[in-house]
Amino acid sequence: MPAPERPELEERLRRRLAEIRERDRHRVRRIAAGPQCPERRVDGRQLLSFASNDYLGLAGHPVVRKALIRGAEHWGAGSGAAHLVNGHTGAHHELEEALADWLGRERALLFSTGYMANLGLVCALLDRGDLAVCDRLAHASLLDAALLADARLARFRHADAAHATRCLARAPSRAALLLTDGVFSMDGDIAPLGPLADAAQGARAWLCVDDAHGLGVIGPGGRGSVARAGLDQHRVPALVGTLGKAFGTFGAFVAGPAELIETLIQRARSYIYTTASPPAVAAATTAALALVADESWRRERIRVLAERLRGGAGQLGLALAPSTTPIQPLLVGTDREAVRLSGALESEGIHVPAIRPPTVPEGSARLRISLSARHTEEQVDRLLDAIDRHRRRDADGGSAARQRQSS
Ligand SMILES: *Cc1c(COP(=O)(O)O)cnc(C)c1O
Repeated sequence: MPAPERPELEERLRRRLAEIRERDRHRVRRIAAGPQCPERRVDGRQLLSFASNDYLGLAGHPVVRKALIRGAEHWGAGSGAAHLVNGHTGAHHELEEALADWLGRERALLFSTGYMANLGLVCALLDRGDLAVCDRLAHASLLDAALLADARLARFRHADAAHATRCLARAPSRAALLLTDGVFSMDGDIAPLGPLADAAQGARAWLCVDDAHGLGVIGPGGRGSVARAGLDQHRVPALVGTLGKAFGTFGAFVAGPAELIETLIQRARSYIYTTASPPAVAAATTAALALVADESWRRERIRVLAERLRGGAGQLGLALAPSTTPIQPLLVGTDREAVRLSGALESEGIHVPAIRPPTVPEGSARLRISLSARHTEEQVDRLLDAIDRHRRRDADGGSAARQRQSS
């Protein structure tokens, strides 16, 4: 006999979807035509987009594409097995060695995604009841990793190393990790890695930095937030990088001491129980890495574009969050207003995504403007003009409404 009190899933789904719509939190996927680049057809319309993490514009770069094609010709389409079974190829291995070499670390280990790298890393290091101390605004995958590890989770105030130190004091007899993004994905600011490394060291914890948005983009030679802070493998034992952003391809890695990497190979479940990524993708990433390391003009371009955007926004009195990276959030506040502004821009052919809770804290909905080395100054100006026009229309509409009310 069925249990009468068991919740009906159909009813639950219907209710939750309705709730998402009512709260302006409904998300839709757009269908893009053609490779990632600032201007392309999306849902059948030409859109100028400030929405991608392809910061250096390498996703469509001819050298990277060619490496992918040549890789597929040599290695075929798929790896056919997990790394520990027989899916680990020369292409994967070469990329791991190139990444370790580039970052001055003993070894690097490829994961299929950044999400899986974080799950694998934290779960392989922490036992149940150990301590995970995590920045409040860190990426969801770091948080999920701590939950999956069944660690005791403490979240410190954003970028507050003194608070992190106090959190680290909580379970002195347990192993501990201090977890942070290098560059925060929805804010664009850079973590105070020097003070965090001190906090970790003082507490005998390991500092793990997820530099998904920093590698390739900031720091000497594009080596990210950790290199920018002058920290080595001893001070930041675990460095996570993703390859689907500035590198323009797909995948992720952990780089660090040989013992860490060997531990991950033996113990990280999200490494062991999954198919190795296609070798051709690794070959394409190796080509992308050479461009990232050797050609600094793309990073310089982004700096110039960010300065132009910030200068223009300053003149217009727009509330851009403080950021020196390609991630330039325009803080709006309410979900509804963020969706409205994003919609208004889209009606003018510009796509800037509205980012709402739970991705960001309540009351801090924003437009996440992200710049790419392939944007032009003219495109940045177009964005500023469109935002300004919307604001003026809103102000006019507001005063018209007030006049109507008072008359
Ligand atoms: C994108 C991102 C990830 C996830 O990486 P994927 O390869 O896309 O799974 C992890 N951490 C941060 C900070 C990210 O921005």
